[in-house]
Amino acid sequence: MTPPSIVRTNTAELYDAYVMKSYARAPLTLVRGSGVSVWDDTGREYLDFTSGVAVSALGHCHPAWVAAIRHQAGELIHTSNLFRHPLQGELARRLVQQAGPGRVFFCNSGAEANEGLLKLARLHGLKKSGVEGKCIKVIGAHWAFHGRTFGGMSATPQEKIQKGFRPLLSGFAFGELNNVPSFAELIDEDTAAIFVETVQGEGGIKVCTDEFLWGLRQLCDRHNLLLMLDEVQSGLGRTGAFYAFQPSGVRADAIGMAKGLGGGYPIGAFWAAEKHADLFTPGSHGSTFGGTPLACAAALAVLDTLERENLIAKVAANGAAWKTELEKLAADFPRQVKAVTGRGYMLGIALHADPAPCLAALRESGLLVPSAGGNTIRLLPPLIATPEHLTRATALIRGVLATKAPV
Ligand SMILES: *Cc1c(COP(=O)(O)O)cnc(C)c1O
Repeated sequence: MTPPSIVRTNTAELYDAYVMKSYARAPLTLVRGSGVSVWDDTGREYLDFTSGVAVSALGHCHPAWVAAIRHQAGELIHTSNLFRHPLQGELARRLVQQAGPGRVFFCNSGAEANEGLLKLARLHGLKKSGVEGKCIKVIGAHWAFHGRTFGGMSATPQEKIQKGFRPLLSGFAFGELNNVPSFAELIDEDTAAIFVETVQGEGGIKVCTDEFLWGLRQLCDRHNLLLMLDEVQSGLGRTGAFYAFQPSGVRADAIGMAKGLGGGYPIGAFWAAEKHADLFTPGSHGSTFGGTPLACAAALAVLDTLERENLIAKVAANGAAWKTELEKLAADFPRQVKAVTGRGYMLGIALHADPAPCLAALRESGLLVPSAGGNTIRLLPPLIATPEHLTRATALIRGVLATKAPV
């Protein structure tokens, strides 16, 4: 591996002076990445199990992905959606192949994909009731996270997200994850959709059980509701399946995706099943940058690489073995670790106390990981991470748990 180029600037001061203070950032300036590693501006290497928050699916600068972007940048980068481009058509075909018969709309982010789903729910409600603004209720889950737009925030019942921005959109209600009756009792004649993350990410790596998904499917069938799944974080191989809901065998009516889709190049999308896809008609939705040739080239390189390197099956197998190792950790440190949750390369270590000191200690020892709700350490290695990388991370986590005083 070639040594990183060391860049020394006054980056910290520039951030202090000019960048909006909307993030609690780690005191770290990253300048280069390759595979599972990133380097800071002092030349120090870190094992990156943040992956840009589940975005850099192929790790950093995967050669096939870089080559696809380089090539497309010299062909055609942007055209707007007033014209066709072959790569957008092909990417849509590949996503439909996984999701089932239906259609795809391209956008730029997770929040924007979810906005599309919420607009789809409104159109479904209009079709159902015949009255605009009547049948608009969307039932979501406590601890959900669906993004920072007004629609996304309204679907995210967390004080820290909503505070300061009310009034939000009306028509949202929330049940308990994995508790079908708590959803059933919220349904009324004005309900249009049920909307959940298949695996809650920001809220603390909580997996929807198969029984729960089947229960929601039944409710949606019985009451003519859309079952909308937010796969923005859990999708595109992250949990060891293309979409996290697939192993359950449940069919969704609509799916939101983004994070891993472009492997680090921004692209989002939502899919709607055939029956609902024509609710959007010309002029009813749009996005200037949605699905540019460059974004689609990046996403197709991700999909091709997932297939060529058989990464999704590897994530399933390696992730299961890794979870067993982490559960041993939990057994060894019961006063610090409450539980290990998740699937594939989307795992959480729920602690009994605030994980912030642990995250800082892990960073000091060379492992970058994000936190999540419920005092959770989130583990999101790139999908190219090998069992050796996972074992290295486990050893670093063990080291930190061993030196931290139990709570
Ligand atoms: C990250 C995330 C979003 C928001 O995505 P952005 O690209 O940040 O807008 C929405 N839903 C889920 C489940 C997410 O993890």
